[in-house]
Amino acid sequence: QKRNAHQPEFLQAVKELFNTIQPVFVQHPEYIKYGVLERITEPDRIISFRVSWVDDQNRVQVNRGYRVQFNDTIGPYKGGIRFHPTVNESIIKFLGFEQIFKNALTGLPIGGGKGGADFDPKGKSDREIMHFCQAYMTELSNYIGPDVDVPAGDIGVGAREIGYMFGQYKRLKSYQAGVLTGKGVGYGGSLGRTEATGYGVIYFVNEMLKEKGLSLEGSTVVVSGSGNVATYAMQKAMQLGAKVVACSDSNGYIYDPDGIKLETVKEIKEGVRGRIKEYVDKHPNAEYYEGCTGIWSIPCDIALPCATQNELDVESATLLIQNGVKAVAEGANMPCSLEAVDLFIENGILFGPGKAANAGGVAVSALEMSQNSMRLSWTFEEVDSKLQDIMKNIYRKATTCADKYGYSGNLVAGANISGFLTVAEAMMAHGVY
Ligand code: NDP
Repeated sequence: QKRNAHQPEFLQAVKELFNTIQPVFVQHPEYIKYGVLERITEPDRIISFRVSWVDDQNRVQVNRGYRVQFNDTIGPYKGGIRFHPTVNESIIKFLGFEQIFKNALTGLPIGGGKGGADFDPKGKSDREIMHFCQAYMTELSNYIGPDVDVPAGDIGVGAREIGYMFGQYKRLKSYQAGVLTGKGVGYGGSLGRTEATGYGVIYFVNEMLKEKGLSLEGSTVVVSGSGNVATYAMQKAMQLGAKVVACSDSNGYIYDPDGIKLETVKEIKEGVRGRIKEYVDKHPNAEYYEGCTGIWSIPCDIALPCATQNELDVESATLLIQNGVKAVAEGANMPCSLEAVDLFIENGILFGPGKAANAGGVAVSALEMSQNSMRLSWTFEEVDSKLQDIMKNIYRKATTCADKYGYSGNLVAGANISGFLTVAEAMMAHGVY
């Protein structure tokens, strides 16, 4: 705690895990004796480096880049790269820490890591983005590799940025298909990776609802964000018969009582890289509101925070509950504050924690690694069917562990315990180091 006092997001992520895994230590006192918790909360290493690049006005710019290699007990470090001005060591450590357990939950052999830079891609030209990606990869390339550490995308890093980074890695080292995931399908990427996190969230929600005799068909859904995760969560929810009435970006949110038209959102966000408020120019029935948190005041059956950490606080959770929300699933990492999560659980709202609900993205990234190793490509249907099985399996693991350790119905505890047990058992097998 003291050592990380200046890292609030990291402490929040550790606290959430710590609060739920106490019963594990009763059954496994050897984990205390061998310092598993102390070791698992300290990253294997943190790499921090200068990223210098030249902007369109020929000015030299300097950003700070990171890669946290947190834990490789069950496989190579795996986790995305985030480019956002709020990136700092605390953010990267919380993301890397959560990634350890999420990756373990997928049942695939991948360890936990995360990276990024305090670079703001907003308003940058394509040339500036390319130069930044190349500068970031020039240093990062010294620490990664298909069997060592395999980064992917996250906020501000999509197919374009992965492409530039892959090109730079290839130029510096050699062609290594498996060094990054989230690649374009034409050069080693997996079909279904773009959709995987969002689709996975909905497959997970489906499992939660099914158990209570509910379904997505006819339900009203609110999704925050309008990036990769939000877009494909909306798409799958719509395919399964739900009506999505709101989504957002970091400036504000749109409410469309007729149901969001996804083509318009994609055109704005993926096509012209514009702002979500442009939606109302095309759909005058829709309304735009400045600010992000107001989105949770819209009545809905299912709420999917898919933007960023701590975007849904206890006031927003109270509103959602008052308005009759039935299920909440975290598409983003740690979007709900600890107090908000507690409130949902106390009120019997179905709650899918990010570690479980958004694990579909990294799972398909691991499938991309498998395809790269085998030098073959699976069809979209093959990948999607594996993703569905993985999400069902994660749900089953989380519910089974929740039941076994006295947390029936609490998927936060179930997911934490299941992920922790997998990694802790392997750490014990490897001895203390
Ligand atoms: P994108 O960059 O594609 O989209 C992020 C979205 O969130 C944008 O709409 C963005 O708006 C909005 N946003 C970003 N920062 C803020 C903020 N401070 N306040 C409000 N809105 C904000 O990222 P992804 O969709 O990839 O990632 C979203 C979340 O999902 C993150 O928490 C990420 O860690 C998590 N995640 C992503 C996975 C993936 O496969 N991509 C896998 C698992 C989890 P704007 O355009 O205005 O910035």
